[in-house]
Amino acid sequence: MSDTPLVARAADRPLSTRIEVGNPRGPVAPFTVGGHQFVVAAGPCSVEGRDMLLETARGVRRGGAVLLRGGAFKPRTNPYAFQGLGDEALDLLAEARAECGLAIVTECLDLRHADRIGAIADMIQVGARNMQNVPLLAAIAAQGKPVLLKRGSSATIKELLGAAEYLAVHGNLQVILCERGIRTFETSTRNTLDIAAIPVLKRETHLPVFVDPSHAAGDAHYVRALARAAMAAGADGLIVEVHPSPATALSDGAQSLTLGAFDAMMQELSLLAPALGRSLPTLVAGADTRRHVA
Ligand code: PEP
Ligand code: MN
Repeated sequence: MSDTPLVARAADRPLSTRIEVGNPRGPVAPFTVGGHQFVVAAGPCSVEGRDMLLETARGVRRGGAVLLRGGAFKPRTNPYAFQGLGDEALDLLAEARAECGLAIVTECLDLRHADRIGAIADMIQVGARNMQNVPLLAAIAAQGKPVLLKRGSSATIKELLGAAEYLAVHGNLQVILCERGIRTFETSTRNTLDIAAIPVLKRETHLPVFVDPSHAAGDAHYVRALARAAMAAGADGLIVEVHPSPATALSDGAQSLTLGAFDAMMQELSLLAPALGRSLPTLVAGADTRRHVA
């Protein structure tokens, strides 16, 4: 690493990185990550099928999400658990984008999938388990798409920034850092949301910061409070798990919001945003529904 890492906020790099997603001529309505907009990605942990994905996509779009999340290839702790629909899920995500105008964020956990995922996704997720998988980071950086880099559950902030620097040296500075909870002695929640990581990262780096309250909490009851805290602490956005029927979800049902709970959370965040100098992008109703206004 050089004296001044590429991802560091430095005297000659005082401005925050803004990542532009979408295109007025394409299927995805444009929005900016890292500016005054508070950007929300929402969707199921795993893409389980066409109907559930489209129902979720329509619902989260109505609620104010601008990105649709959905795992195609799942890094499950248990090898016998649902591993994702793979390529079929990528096609379904593309179909949901075409219908709803949402950008797609999905995880790449194997460098052999990087080109396929890079060709379809608007943003590529690096999972917590792979934060320090250097060959994978290089293959993902090479796709030239924005990257959502999740903090490893036992990684320090310095290690997260080191992983981001790998993406940068491989030519990709369109990186969003994601705090998703770290492992501590506490067992009441799945992980412990490191709220302090948000201001620390905002000071140390010019990159945008997202929070994943779902994997931090592990329990849908706590997601809304953690989302409020994330916005108040200065995060640039959220990635949240939402499922039309959490009780029957094939992965992470306990932490997934219903569509109604997602709506309620978004309404609350839209009330909180102006007090914090933020706004939630909202879709312009009418003829051109593919445009957001701040
Ligand atoms: C996920 O987003 O579904 C996921 C597996 O997250 P993490 O890598 O943070 O555990
Ligand atoms: Mn999940």
